[in-house]
Amino acid sequence: MDKLFTEVQFLKGVGPKRSQQLRKLEIETVFDLLWNVPRAYFNRNKVDKIATLSNGAVTNIRARVVNAANNRTRRGFQIFKAMLADDSGMIPAVWFNQPYLAQQLKVGQEVFVSGKVKNTLGANEVNVTDYEVIDDESVLSIVPIYSLTDGLNQKAMRKIVEYALNNYLPYYFEMLEADIKNRYDLCDIQFAFQNIHFPANGEAYLQSRRRLAFEELFLFKLSLALEKENSDSCSSFIVHRPQTDLVARVIEGLPFALTPAQQKVVDEILADMGAPLAMNRLLQGDVGSGKTVVAALAMAQAVASGYQAALMAPTEILAEQHFASINRFFAPTSIVTALLTGSTAPAERKMVLEAAANGEIDILIGTHALIQDEVFLKKLGLAVIDEQHRFGVKQRGNLSGKGQKPDILVMTATPIPRTLALTLYGNLNVSVIAELPPGRRLVKTRFIPRSSRNQAYRFIHAEIKKGRQAYVVCPLVEESEKQDLMAAITLFEELQNELYPDLRVGLLHGRMKADEKKLIMASFKNGHIDVLVATTIVEVGVDVRSASVIIIEHAERFGLSQLHQLRGRVGRGDVQSYCFLVGDPKTDDAARRLQAMEKTCDGFELANEDLSIRGPGDFWGVKQHGLNDMKVANLLRDQKIIGWASEAVLEYRLETKQAKQTNDYIYRKFKKSPGIARN
Ligand code: ADP
Ligand code: MG
Repeated sequence: MDKLFTEVQFLKGVGPKRSQQLRKLEIETVFDLLWNVPRAYFNRNKVDKIATLSNGAVTNIRARVVNAANNRTRRGFQIFKAMLADDSGMIPAVWFNQPYLAQQLKVGQEVFVSGKVKNTLGANEVNVTDYEVIDDESVLSIVPIYSLTDGLNQKAMRKIVEYALNNYLPYYFEMLEADIKNRYDLCDIQFAFQNIHFPANGEAYLQSRRRLAFEELFLFKLSLALEKENSDSCSSFIVHRPQTDLVARVIEGLPFALTPAQQKVVDEILADMGAPLAMNRLLQGDVGSGKTVVAALAMAQAVASGYQAALMAPTEILAEQHFASINRFFAPTSIVTALLTGSTAPAERKMVLEAAANGEIDILIGTHALIQDEVFLKKLGLAVIDEQHRFGVKQRGNLSGKGQKPDILVMTATPIPRTLALTLYGNLNVSVIAELPPGRRLVKTRFIPRSSRNQAYRFIHAEIKKGRQAYVVCPLVEESEKQDLMAAITLFEELQNELYPDLRVGLLHGRMKADEKKLIMASFKNGHIDVLVATTIVEVGVDVRSASVIIIEHAERFGLSQLHQLRGRVGRGDVQSYCFLVGDPKTDDAARRLQAMEKTCDGFELANEDLSIRGPGDFWGVKQHGLNDMKVANLLRDQKIIGWASEAVLEYRLETKQAKQTNDYIYRKFKKSPGIARN
């Protein structure tokens, strides 16, 4: 057993209670403890004088507590206020919602405090982010600040880490050869862990950070490379060698010509499917770029080769829409399709399951219902997952698990910046539809404060008189948010009864029965509804070409990708379309999102903007890829290191002895096993 994976409860000074607290921080073993790097540091050599502080400054001060007390603000927040003094002056320090500080901070104590200086009503105060009571044992000049949990304080945490470093660090295995370390100027792994926790000085900290960022990215990249190697070397993959001109016939029958961009990705996909390797391909294309037809052609290829194909979509509305358009695409052929969703009637469901199992159905389209245990496909050769970011890794895996290593095509309209895509999907091939079908016009987008929202509603009225249709979207992020649901219903009534008595207004939300939803969607599609008030269930994929306006209420509550997806519901035909973002942004980030939407319709640009507003930790879909487990590396700032790690992985030779360790480290860090070293 590797000493590094000793459970923390067996460390000196850590009993069952402490180990519970550590578990809350996802620290279970010594390995986790080492990787639990400080969130910040106190540099005791670098303190500011209170008299020199100015508004907005981020500061560290060393001062004595002159008085301290809990207060309650008018809006009911608990604040703890202490007057701090050094030899230059005094300043009040404020802690929010930490009433227990009254027991911990006492008059007369000396403290380090860091935080942001704020000038309120003409006087400075410090909003404290971190603090520490100074006692005689603090001798180090740079001390770590860790994320904590109830009952665990900085001092205890530091002791535990120190013990782990002193007793277990030698067991951490050095993966890098000397020449790699020299080439990228990387320090030893032991030095790195020691100095990320207790930096000897600023330079040592920077060295450590660089090495550990490299280490993380290297392990992650290595896991991708190993996964790929593993799947390439698997002998039971499917080769799609079509016996007929089925694909050509489908293309001929389309009501439009494929764009060059679509043709290109179709070629890439078909070549991949014909190769003696398992396809694992990501198809990226902005909202409205025409991914569905590409998927249909790939599925036709599978059928022509004697296999079945499956297409999974995240909502019933979308699955039904795909079913309808794919049937239209396949009209010139005798391909047999079927739809399976949560609301498929039992009798029909039974028939579909049977026909899928005995191979009578060529193409099965549906929702999560496809990955239930009872679903069996006789010879699944291609699994397509639409709007892949809506599914978890496991669900995607479950669909491909319905066959013997089928080819896999995942589609997304959430464009991921190239560098991030390479980091995330190093083991996937990527195809991009880089242009929209001809005749599309950019959707004119405007932000409207709530006080002026009637402007937007008047505008809709005028558009509809021209024969167009409109969406009004209300936020209902979780289908269980009752108040939001009420808001959607109220808005629907307000529109129908007061604003638009002369128009046909419809309502669509997730709590409605499947039949009702189907009916409403169909009426909207056929033009029997002019204005559709909907929750975000229309977010992905819905395709109604004569809809030319969308109003998004409370736009400040949506993320950028979601706004972009919603806007993608209009502008799908060739008439000029409009998007109104109604809201009152309360944070800088929200305001930036709305500005970005006004500025561009390009999903790739928006994705970059999103990444810079939110950081990769929160970026859509990223959670599913283990990138949240990056403790040191920053995917935006460490691009150079990402490049180095990729290079280094290419020349990395695993010797059997190292293979197990590497595998273990990947497993502990990213909770996934690339499956090497089984022998
Ligand atoms: P998305 O990529 O967002 O899934 P869809 O596949 O729903 O886009 O396509 C959007 C619309 O564009 C559909 O109505 C589709 O029929 C149409 N479309 C797709 N390809 C073309 C093309 N080459 N020329 C014209 N219209 C197209
Ligand atoms: Mg789509």
